[in-house]
Amino acid sequence: MTVKTIDGEKFVACVECGHDVHLYSMWASECVCGVEYNGFGQQLASRKQWDMEEDF
Ligand SMILES: [Zn+2]
Repeated sequence: MTVKTIDGEKFVACVECGHDVHLYSMWASECVCGVEYNGFGQQLASRKQWDMEEDF
């Protein structure tokens, strides 16, 4: 995961499609392909995976 900073704005290269995702939100920024990243450029689990974690 590589986070770039351009003019104070953060971008991360999407692991799925390679598109530069603008990290406009601290919590969840969505790529054009639907993958979401947090403010650190870390890929977020899909909502399906979140539901599974709740069963723990
Ligand atoms: Zn993508």
